[in-house]
Amino acid sequence: MPYPVLPRILSARVHTFGQYLLQRYGQRVHKLALHAGFTCPNRDGVKGHGGCTFCNNVSFSPNAQEPPPLDAQLEAGRTVVAKRTGARRFMGYFQAYTNTYDPLDALRQRYDSVLRHPDVIGLSIGTRPDCVPEAVLDLLASYQAQGKEIWLELGLQSADDRTLERINRGHTFADYRTTALAAAQRGIPVCAHLIIGLPGEGRTAALSSLQQVLEIGVAGLKLHPLHVVQHTRLALDWQRGSYQPLARADYVDICADLVERTPPTVIYHRLTGTASRDILLAPDWCHQKWAVLNAIEAELCRRDSRQGDCCNFSHHQLVSSA
Ligand code: SF4
Repeated sequence: MPYPVLPRILSARVHTFGQYLLQRYGQRVHKLALHAGFTCPNRDGVKGHGGCTFCNNVSFSPNAQEPPPLDAQLEAGRTVVAKRTGARRFMGYFQAYTNTYDPLDALRQRYDSVLRHPDVIGLSIGTRPDCVPEAVLDLLASYQAQGKEIWLELGLQSADDRTLERINRGHTFADYRTTALAAAQRGIPVCAHLIIGLPGEGRTAALSSLQQVLEIGVAGLKLHPLHVVQHTRLALDWQRGSYQPLARADYVDICADLVERTPPTVIYHRLTGTASRDILLAPDWCHQKWAVLNAIEAELCRRDSRQGDCCNFSHHQLVSSA
């Protein structure tokens, strides 16, 4: 096995979100993932039908359980995290599905219910690039004006419209550009989500997506490998052999390439990810999150490089507001 399994200090080579929060707040701040009961317009016909080809839709079934109230989720999450990490400050991470997909008052009510907790310093709002009306951006900007830490997480996945169509995203790169620029105008930091190993994509496509996101200007990035999970169209492709997930070594190599080409001002919120063991079919290596992170760090170490070392952007080209 070429990579060590003990956690290394990735933040010596990558500008991580944990490092950013520690520097800004002088203490550990932990994100608590929340399920606020939203759904998705890519399934109900408003933006598209059928959902993304990789998205597990079990939770959309009529028998899916309602999530617990947000207060209860926060309480449970902070208790576990405080015990494990000692963190005393938290961010509410509206993670599940499309967290801007409701009338403005309903959004405000949910966001406010999390922000009113004194140990919650802000929110991260995960959503689709084509589902963020100006009024929602204004609401987020108003929280920021009150001193809250606010991030808008946009699931772009790829900057190639052919790929976006192939995976049935139901939005285009132009949608992402419009929302990212509208957020930047208000000083709201955007974290772009990119998936490595989408059907028909490899290193070249990943580098191209990064380049296009950087050209628009971005404050943060999240990378993860494409997961094949049960009850998806991607799972059928994988079972038929028409889709092959990336090998771990290839994922690590591409991630290192992306990190080297990312300006040091941009914050990496995530460099890998996994899906629930109950539904994950492939690739099996993505269960081992720390091993993957160690491998990325080891690869950067082997190259004797760090974030921004192969970057051809000057800092004035960035609209980063974080
Ligand atoms: S991945 Fe996100 S945008 Fe795509 S169908 Fe699932 S919830 Fe909707």
